[in-house]
Amino acid sequence: MRAEEGGLKFPRRVVHAVPGLPRVQESYDFLVIGGGHAGLQAGLKASLLGHSAAIVDRGPKYSRSYYSPRMDNIPGFPGGISGHKLLDEQVAAVRKAETVGYFTPARAVAVARVEREYTVTFEWLKQTHVVRGRALVLAQGVVDRIPSVGGEIDPIFPWANQALVDFCILCDGHELTRRSVAVLGDDAFAARTALDLLHFRPTSVELLTLGQPLLDGVPEVERAPLAATLAEKGIQHTDLEVVGFDEIREKRFGVKFADGSHRSYDRGFSALGWYDMHHEFPRSLGAKFDADGYVMTDEDCRVLTEATGAPIPGLYCVGDQRNGWNQIPEAWATAERAVIHAYGEYL
Ligand SMILES: Cc1cc2nc3c(=O)[nH]c(=O)nc-3n(C[C@H](O)[C@H](O)[C@H](O)COP(=O)(O)OP(=O)(O)OC[C@H]3O[C@@H](n4cnc5c(N)ncnc54)[C@H](O)[C@@H]3O)c2cc1C
Repeated sequence: MRAEEGGLKFPRRVVHAVPGLPRVQESYDFLVIGGGHAGLQAGLKASLLGHSAAIVDRGPKYSRSYYSPRMDNIPGFPGGISGHKLLDEQVAAVRKAETVGYFTPARAVAVARVEREYTVTFEWLKQTHVVRGRALVLAQGVVDRIPSVGGEIDPIFPWANQALVDFCILCDGHELTRRSVAVLGDDAFAARTALDLLHFRPTSVELLTLGQPLLDGVPEVERAPLAATLAEKGIQHTDLEVVGFDEIREKRFGVKFADGSHRSYDRGFSALGWYDMHHEFPRSLGAKFDADGYVMTDEDCRVLTEATGAPIPGLYCVGDQRNGWNQIPEAWATAERAVIHAYGEYL
């Protein structure tokens, strides 16, 4: 439903029942699941193009970047900016957009395609809501697997929060030049990450497999060349179980092993892959995934169907959840592409 003014169509403003709390409308032009860098940009762009949008998000602390203390590739911030601050800026812009309902902390629990529309069911303020929209933008991101010690993931957080343990080669590889690096992981992805890090000329790279045999279960055709390349490049590995970390005051990544030994590195690098790639909603809507588990889209970020490879009308996937590079400028660009496409095509 729109208000007509002088021949131009204007979207209805999102009504705030209580200041700061949007009222849930029955329908929007865009439904956006996830309010990280991609989802917030999708909502903002929808508003700038004269459309309404509902953004459903669990909260900024679930964004991948929330714990990044300094990001160096964000235009306009020559001294770097933290992920936390950048999210604050994006949230502030979205809160000013009058046609965007930003629901947080809220959790989408179901999606469906009903005739030519989508519905999203979400929980917010202890109530379940169902909203309809012509276009659905999936912007759920991916969740890193965190190294655990004795089954707990908390021990590494202080080192991660001080960027003494990194998670993203494209984001932080440049920080590793002339540093000794411990790469955490035991599989082919970890081995390839250790090799890729050599590009940044660290003083040394060592693989810590956290008690697992290195490359166990990797098909021989892949295992043998990987093991040979690791040996050729001088990347050693330690299979010992890790029982704790230390040296945070010295701003180093100290690792305590089960046999009582200890090693000290300039940096750690977690190469454990993803804990959750948020497959549930795209799978239920018939999406196709690539070999790494990302949602496959075309260049307008339209989700491709598993059955035929054709785009699914009105369904978009943006940011880390789709196939592409897991970077914030890419999250923004894909959000813009999706919304501009829907604006031209459907709305
Ligand atoms: C340590 C670290 C450092 C990084 N540094 C950089 C850097 O320097 N430069 C750079 O460009 N990139 C960096 N990145 C990558 C960057 O964080 C991601 O590319 C970016 O966050 C992707 O944005 P996104 O919106 O796709 O996903 P996210 O920002 O992860 O947001 C996804 C959102 O979706 C929400 N969500 C998921 N499911 C639901 C649901 N069912 N209901 C409601 N909400 C849901 C989540 O709660 C989350 O808020 C870094 C990442 C890490 C981990």
